[in-house]
Amino acid sequence: MNAKIWAQFLERLKEQVNDRCLAYIENLSCRSMTDQTWNLCLPNRSMLNFVESNLDDTLREVLHSVMCDAGMTDVSIVYSIENELEPVSKRESGYLPFDPVTVTDISVPDVKKASFQVSRAMNSEDAAGNSDLMNVLPFVADIKVREASHLNANFTFDSFIKGGSNEMAYCAAKAVAANPAGAYNPLFIYGGVGIGKTHLMHAIGNEIIETSNIRVRYMTSEEFTNDYLDAVRNNRMQEFRESIRRNCDVLLLDDIQFIAGKAETQKEFFNTFNDLQRANKQIVLTSDKHPQEIKELEERIRSRFLGGLMADIQLPEYETRLEILRKKSRSENFYIPDDVAQYIASKVTSNVRELEGCIKRIKASADIHNEHISLSLAQKLIEPFYQTRTVLLDANKIIDCVCRYFGISNEEMVGKSRAKPFVYPRQIAMYLARSHTSLSFPDLGRVFGRDHTTVLHAVQRIMDDLAKKDTALQFDIKRLEDELFK
Ligand code: ADP
Ligand code: MG
Repeated sequence: MNAKIWAQFLERLKEQVNDRCLAYIENLSCRSMTDQTWNLCLPNRSMLNFVESNLDDTLREVLHSVMCDAGMTDVSIVYSIENELEPVSKRESGYLPFDPVTVTDISVPDVKKASFQVSRAMNSEDAAGNSDLMNVLPFVADIKVREASHLNANFTFDSFIKGGSNEMAYCAAKAVAANPAGAYNPLFIYGGVGIGKTHLMHAIGNEIIETSNIRVRYMTSEEFTNDYLDAVRNNRMQEFRESIRRNCDVLLLDDIQFIAGKAETQKEFFNTFNDLQRANKQIVLTSDKHPQEIKELEERIRSRFLGGLMADIQLPEYETRLEILRKKSRSENFYIPDDVAQYIASKVTSNVRELEGCIKRIKASADIHNEHISLSLAQKLIEPFYQTRTVLLDANKIIDCVCRYFGISNEEMVGKSRAKPFVYPRQIAMYLARSHTSLSFPDLGRVFGRDHTTVLHAVQRIMDDLAKKDTALQFDIKRLEDELFK
């Protein structure tokens, strides 16, 4: 019976998708089927992201129709990557009641959006001769175009919440996506950590590849630097240059502050920048600082940046934080009561990544203990990290205290070794310094002699482990805090 249903499901799907999507359907396999859930697999994450973003509604509709015809009750779908054990679907059904909005999303296709996408697709070359299929499928970028772009399909304008803090950057990004190399070139998006710069940059790229044949390439400045150094070492400069200058029309270069102090990389970047601009190609850059504040940056590069549009993103205000929480939890099929959302939005003011971290922690804890999300659960999990202590500490005092506690030297604490006896105390010190000083992530990066993202990940790691009830860690943190505040 299952095999028959599966065959019907595939057959109907194939009737409904265009050539572009057929490859994804052909790669679909079924790991398990129960009365409630089908676990569908794809060979890799990129294919899975694509299916979730572009084919999910179609898959659900077809499954619904097949089950109805067979007189069976509806089942939900979760997705996995082949050879990975856990389902990774963002639509995975939870232990909690579905948010009504999500239920509507799943069962009723978004007709307005579909028809908008149809009309857009009709204008595209690929839609020719395929018009009957377009009623079902949104216009989607070719898999090869998507892979070459290195874009994250989840970071779109649709999933980005607009608010006062990011309005200017959002509008500039929209303008660039609508008119690459015609609106603002370069577009320079800057602002603190975890507030949506990378998301917005991907959104520009995603919108462009979904609506045109323009080739987009996203890369971090670290990748640019490493690829450049590799090319120099292996005598492959020609290839490196072509891969960027000839093979893309829109270059999205993330975290450009990373090239500060790297003279050779800056020289190469300057030439790349000029070539792209001469060829009327769009450049979008992000940075954690305004160009004037990036030290050890060649003046000629700084002035190129300043010649474009500067768009800053500030920390999101309360209403935006609340909206982000609602949207993120909806997209994870996870219902957060309003009082809990309001509580989190009022406590977690630092950045969006930390807001997301809180949702994950609450979800994980509710999952493990099979509890419903309530204000008291949220308070229990969040209060210890976000309580406003009146006393702020000195980062060096924290480092000294952690070093003493673990019996390592200050040099080992800030040194390069990634051996476990140093990494664990270092992560704890970073976490404590973040919790009990007013230093930003970039400030902490300087204190610990590391990039700010390293500090960010360390802090998140500790917070996640604390949420998972790592008792040894809780003990260490408690002892250290007692010592620091005594
Ligand atoms: P940055 O590049 O500024 O450090 P990111 O773009 O990586 O930050 O954002 C961190 C996380 O927060 C991402 O998961 C992103 O989707 C989310 N995020 C940030 N701002 C928003 C927003 N305005 N709406 C929705 N999600 C957001
Ligand atoms: Mg970023």
